[in-house]
Amino acid sequence: MSLFAGEGEPGGRAKIHRRANPLSPLGVIFLGLGIAAFAGPGTSQTAGTMAARRKAMVAGQIAARGVRDPLVLKAMSEVPRHLFVPADVVDRAYEDYPLPIGEGQTISQPYIVALMTACLTLKGGEKVLEVGTGSGYQAAVLGRIAGSVFTIEINGTLARQAAATLERLGFGNVHVRAGDGFFGWPEEAPFDAMIVTAAAPEIPPALFAQLAEGGRLVIPLGDVQTYQRLTVVTKRDGKPYIGQVLDVRFVPMTGEILKKK
Ligand code: SAH
Repeated sequence: MSLFAGEGEPGGRAKIHRRANPLSPLGVIFLGLGIAAFAGPGTSQTAGTMAARRKAMVAGQIAARGVRDPLVLKAMSEVPRHLFVPADVVDRAYEDYPLPIGEGQTISQPYIVALMTACLTLKGGEKVLEVGTGSGYQAAVLGRIAGSVFTIEINGTLARQAAATLERLGFGNVHVRAGDGFFGWPEEAPFDAMIVTAAAPEIPPALFAQLAEGGRLVIPLGDVQTYQRLTVVTKRDGKPYIGQVLDVRFVPMTGEILKKK
């Protein structure tokens, strides 16, 4: 049973936290509208169609491939993926592939979002760090299970858009920061779980340092130009224990990590 079972839409606001490079003013007005009111007239029909597609996605693409964690399946069936993608691809939001989200970036295939979330073995209430906010969708899925989510995006435009989407949809426990996730979010450490949604050649040391004892970090590790191995790192007695899940292809992590050998 989910910690969030029976809960209404979370009412708080997603906040954007800035580091050294300030973003331009958000220019976003919080309208206080719920999801149903968001798309205007005819929405309940649209919302119903989208909910049906989401249900089919969870059954056909996720549960059928072996993701069985009820908290993950519930979150995937609740979070409206179609409200995290650009208008021109809304119709394809529940199909079995990644989609472009602008700025040369992509939102992952739903199955990969579910699988990575399942790899964290969340029970509810945890503090989670994500590197690579993108559209904010993965953060929203985490936000339905965990206690709080801190997510970092290096692209200022995407960070701003994701913060606005999360705020509009009422994900008050998800906090977005524009910056380089290579350095983690030291003020909020330690984290019970971490997820990196961009390909990296190595585990950024600051992330492992900010992982709580017993915590799990999921990251696509390997050659950022070709493919990576989805890797689960568990911290026990301060040491990393490595498990490998399957081969994946992610967009490369940029920023500080490129300066390293
Ligand atoms: N999780 C996202 C998809 C991520 S795509 C979603 O649900 O939509 C990978 C994202 O990682 C891109 O938006 C890219 O800009 C971001 N990224 C790449 N390098 C990064 C870094 N060093 N720190 C933070 N974000 C980074």
